[in-house]
Amino acid sequence: MAVRRNDLAGPEGDVLYRRYIEALRRHGPPEEDDVPSPGRAIRSCSRCGRHTMFRLDPEGTWYECTRCGQYA
Ligand SMILES: [Zn+2]
Repeated sequence: MAVRRNDLAGPEGDVLYRRYIEALRRHGPPEEDDVPSPGRAIRSCSRCGRHTMFRLDPEGTWYECTRCGQYA
């Protein structure tokens, strides 16, 4: 199902956009630790039990825990 153009361009879309800008202004640019960049993900590690950043390996198959090196 396609989204109609009007659904995004109406007054409601304006409000959402303004809220987004306001949030950016209030909280500043996202911290690197909070927002995964491409090839990264926040996951819970089954080995060290931490909820932390995982890094996609060069082959793009496995995510590696940045704390203990466990692959998941
Ligand atoms: Zn780990």
